[in-house]
Parts: sequence; C-alpha cells; structure tokens
Amino acid sequence: MRKTVLITGGNKGIGLETTRLFVQNNYKVITIARDYNNFEFNKNDNVEKIEYDVSNVNGIKDLVSKIGHVDIFVNNAGIMNSIPYDNYSEENRDKIMKINLYAPIEFIIQVSKSMIEAGTGRIVNTASIAGQIGHPDIWYGASKAGIINATKSFSTLLGPKGIVINAVAPGPVETNMMAVIPEQRKQSIKNSVFTDRFAKAEEVAKTIYWLATECPEYINGTCIDINNGAFPR
Ligand code: NAD
Repeated sequence: MRKTVLITGGNKGIGLETTRLFVQNNYKVITIARDYNNFEFNKNDNVEKIEYDVSNVNGIKDLVSKIGHVDIFVNNAGIMNSIPYDNYSEENRDKIMKINLYAPIEFIIQVSKSMIEAGTGRIVNTASIAGQIGHPDIWYGASKAGIINATKSFSTLLGPKGIVINAVAPGPVETNMMAVIPEQRKQSIKNSVFTDRFAKAEEVAKTIYWLATECPEYINGTCIDINNGAFPR
C-alpha cells in the first residue's frame, strides 16, 4: 500500500520540492497551505490539498484527527519578517511564533498519536541556521532555535515509541522567502556565513526526504546543517 506523507507548506519553495520528491517516489501526499496558486499537483498525482492557516494553532487537533494516520510528517511551513527587534508589533510577534513554533509543536503532538499506535513513524522539522547562530529577525531566530530544541526533546519522548524525529537547518535558500531581500543584503548574508551561493530548494528537499525515508533510525533527535560549510562569525 502507498505510504502517506503530510507536508505543511508543501505548495511552495522547499515544501514544493519535497512534495515533488514524494510524488516521484509513489507516496500519497497531503499538503497543508494557505493557498494553492500555481500549484502543479492534483488528485491524479495522489496529492490532496488542504487549505489551512497554521497560525490557527487551536484548530490543529481537529484538522489532524480528520486527516487520520500518516506515515511521515514534514513540519515545514514558516514565515520570516524583516522587522527590527524594537519595532515588532504584538500582532507580528504572535503570528510568527504561532506559525514557526507553536503550530509545529502542536502538529507533532497530534500527528504522533497515531504513529505511537502504529509503533512507527517519521517526522522532519524545517529549522534554520538562524536557530543556531541568531538572526536580525529576533523572533524568527528564537522560533527556529525552539524547533531545534523541540526536535531533541521529542526524540527522547517519542523515540522509545518507534518514532524517528529529526530537523534540517538550512542556511539561506533560493525561495520566495529570500526573494524579497534586496541584492545588497543577500551579498552581506553570503559574506557573513562565508558562502558563495544560496542553497537550492531541491537540496534541502533531498535531505528532508532522506531523513523521512532512508536514514538509519539511530539518527534521532539531530539537526542536519545544509549550509555549504557556513560558519558563524
Ligand atoms: P516559502 O515562502 O517559499 O514557503 C513557505 C511555506 O510556508 C509556504 O508553502 C507557505 O504556504 C507556508 N506557510 C506560511 N505561512 C503559513 C500559514 N500561516 N499557514 C499555512 N502555511 C503557511 O519559503 P521556504 O524557504 O520554502 O520556507 C520553508 C521553510 O524553510 C520555512 O520554515 C523557513 O523558515 C525555512 N527556511 C527557509 C530558509 C530560506 O532561506 N528560504 C532558510 C532556512 C529555513
């Protein structure tokens, strides 16, 4: 029987390339996103699209119970702002923390229930280098540090129940998230992490796919750097 993978933010960027890999490998893919403009996959590809705003954290329990059991969960949806730390509104702070940290943790709690019953399951969280070395968007960095920490914590809680949970920490990746950043700032990002180029979304997707499928289960609770050898100054 076809295995099922649930991917948040599976419609764009890293999530889209992850969807593509799972489709190519004959999985049933369920994606969760706010919109599906220009999304190329449909039922014929065994892709089910759910429109949902993950900042509605309290609705995740119901959503996941309606979806039912999934074999793999890719916890990928996220946002980044370019707001100076002393100018952040309460609304923007709450929104980014809900999308980048509260929702991912709530998804893990809910999705893992049926994985525990099955005695097996895989979860991959999309963190960021920002959670390791800090970030000018202070709440973005904090949310990503939080998900790296949660990956470790959940591996000790869920590992003994048969669930493998890991994270990826990409450096800058060529997606819409970076497209809004001016060229000069992009160059300064490259300089600050000693890299000559940004990652391609496919490179991150391949790592997510490996963690979600083939990686030995003894690799649990870890966070894989995808950053071209970037080093914090
Ligand atoms: P992207 O903007 O192309 O994709 C973001 C995804 O999140 C989209 O699919 C979008 O639908 C989804 N999303 C955002 N808010 C949502 C909401 N409220 N409800 C439902 N879905 C929502 O950017 P991306 O680079 O592909 O980002 C994917 C993940 O990778 C994010 O968690 C991001 O923080 C992380 N990341 C990105 C970079 C980078 O440089 N692009 C680097 C490190 C980590």
